[in-house]
Amino acid sequence: MQVTPRSVARALLLASPAVVVLLWFGVPQARQPAVAPVPPAGAAAPTAPGGAAVPDPAAQVAAIRPRLPEHAEQVVEYRISVRLDPTAKEVKGRERLTWRNPSGDAVPDLWFHLYLNAFKNSKSTFFKGSGGQLRGDRMPENGWGFVDIVSMKLADGTDLTKAYTFEAPDDGNADDRTVIRVPLPSAVPPGGSVTLDIEFVSKLPRVFARTGFKDDFYLVAQWFPKIGVYEPAGTRGRETGGWNCHQFHPNSEFYADFGRFEVEFTVPASFVVGATGERTARRENGDGTVTYTYVQADVHDFAWTADPNYVEQRHRFSATEDVTAEEYRQVAALLDRSDREVRLTDVEIILLLHPRHVSQAPRYLDAAKLGIKWFGLWYGRYPYKTLTVVDPAPGAGGAGGMEYPTFITGGTSFVLGQWPFNRIRAPEGVTVHEFGHQFWYGLVANNEFEEAWLDEGFNSYSTGKIMEIGYGRDTALVDFLGLRVGAVDVIRAQNAGGRYRYDTVRQPSWSYTPGSYSFYSYTKPEILLRTLEGLLGEQTMARVMRTYHERWRFRHPNSDDFYAVANEVSGQDLTWFFEQAVEGTQALDYEIASVGTRRVAKASGYLEDGGKRSLVPQEKAGDEGEGTGPFESRILVRRRGEFVAPVEIAVKFAGAAPERVNWDGHDRSKRLTFNRPGRLEWAEVDPDRTLVLDTNWLNNAQRVEPDTRVARGVATRWLFWMQQLVAGAGW
Ligand SMILES: [Zn+2]
Repeated sequence: MQVTPRSVARALLLASPAVVVLLWFGVPQARQPAVAPVPPAGAAAPTAPGGAAVPDPAAQVAAIRPRLPEHAEQVVEYRISVRLDPTAKEVKGRERLTWRNPSGDAVPDLWFHLYLNAFKNSKSTFFKGSGGQLRGDRMPENGWGFVDIVSMKLADGTDLTKAYTFEAPDDGNADDRTVIRVPLPSAVPPGGSVTLDIEFVSKLPRVFARTGFKDDFYLVAQWFPKIGVYEPAGTRGRETGGWNCHQFHPNSEFYADFGRFEVEFTVPASFVVGATGERTARRENGDGTVTYTYVQADVHDFAWTADPNYVEQRHRFSATEDVTAEEYRQVAALLDRSDREVRLTDVEIILLLHPRHVSQAPRYLDAAKLGIKWFGLWYGRYPYKTLTVVDPAPGAGGAGGMEYPTFITGGTSFVLGQWPFNRIRAPEGVTVHEFGHQFWYGLVANNEFEEAWLDEGFNSYSTGKIMEIGYGRDTALVDFLGLRVGAVDVIRAQNAGGRYRYDTVRQPSWSYTPGSYSFYSYTKPEILLRTLEGLLGEQTMARVMRTYHERWRFRHPNSDDFYAVANEVSGQDLTWFFEQAVEGTQALDYEIASVGTRRVAKASGYLEDGGKRSLVPQEKAGDEGEGTGPFESRILVRRRGEFVAPVEIAVKFAGAAPERVNWDGHDRSKRLTFNRPGRLEWAEVDPDRTLVLDTNWLNNAQRVEPDTRVARGVATRWLFWMQQLVAGAGW
């Protein structure tokens, strides 16, 4: 989830005064440490600590060459038929579920999620943890919802309705109703299958935390009894097979197996609808209702929406018109894949817009196309025929910024359609992000409960880069009236100051220190993946990501699976990096602690030359800086944080081009001494800013003569606009 214009705006503008200050005073200045331009690092990639040799990544990739799978292994098949009761705000009906045992175990029971029961009452784990608030949204008063299983039977008629029990595997909360266990009369044999007929009623909550209704707007998500994931031994490092079926927590999302969904839903005839997959039938029932059927294979969830006020627009992403031959060629070269392998396919884009937001349709459409194009080119084509983009009704923002297979919800507001706020790229950012989940969560289906960084973090990293392509590196998020905010500016600002030090990126989403889920799931992963890209270089990183996606498309990886691909494709052992960046809490901060330069004093005293002795007087104190060289220059580089990484240090002497020195970064400090004809002008650690994890770039460079330029005028203007925005925050 869940990124809304409001949350983007908040992240951009309201997170803390430190963000405001750092965005201007910190990041841009640190980028330009007022020194002469530094030539690129060239081919000299930093070596890992320990000085491990670096094999040729291209040769590695050529040897691997995995293919992009066309289809998922089908574990589930859902046939669901329901009717929306707009008065009771209920969805009633039945599902026929066939579950195939993907393991070598005999499985004696089935576990299900009943997600809507998170909204059942104040005793649910979700409600207790959230207090009815999530991401700045408050649960509407008496907005409760639930899902009841009316009956559950095996295909042969055996009644299991009374057999199931509520479970609370995460916290033991006996009042939580979001997970059930269904014991079976006989175990499902390895490779065998079982079919159940389930009758259910879903009482929709008032829109909050991704799902529900507001007036006639319905976003029907997490709405049906949904089977958990039986993980065979070996999946995500498991030693024995077993069910993975977590409760619904405030910050947790979802995890499910792939299969085919065929869903028909009946709504009043005046409603405009959209859903996961392709519409295969529309039937008028003669009673003022219409029944729609949607089908999609190779997905692991299904959502739908209905609202009589929607304006529907249909557009097309064209694999030949929206991507140039040159772009295909460049990406194929970048990834070392054939032209055929990077080829995309056409996608029908269905926009469902609120009437007040119709003028912003081109923004949704451009962002959706940008996502289909670049996610597809980099990671592998979007394999579905449709993408439905939902613009939630005003006041239903809780349903916005969310992802389901082939179906995403964006979010904008009337204000964001007006100048100058239309230069805040919140609707675009949300759309690209939610589309990106088709790849990170949808196709590469990690366990969002346990390792949210593998979807949110990978997606934030990808989205940030694509926003830069679409909207400019320094203006990816905001560009108006002198205010320019890029993707890296925002994430770095959040990492500054060392506020977040107590959790690791890799831990269950409900276990973070309160208030820090989004930092560890979105922000820090984006920073650490950007850092990894800095360490490996853009091409190798692109191949790592591509290979990881190809290998894990339609499967369930964990962090270790990503590490393995990264090591393999890069030809490096990156354990040192992942242990610190993902599994550890170390902060990274390298600085130039001091710089100094002085002319090497002439030799003095009784000097011998060819048997002849002469007395040369000492130079007077204060003369050291005068005259011509040679000069002795000293630089102290310091590791201020616990995170150890190899770094480059650029040094510039008068009359010479900048030069570079490598340091393995291990010791707390390193003293560099140079004897050169010219005096030292400046020194800079990590001059290419590859270590985006560095919590402070302000201390990365020092000049021998301090530079006192301050861009005060611009900063004042920036802060003025910040205040205007915050004051008028009607969005
Ligand atoms: Zn997300």
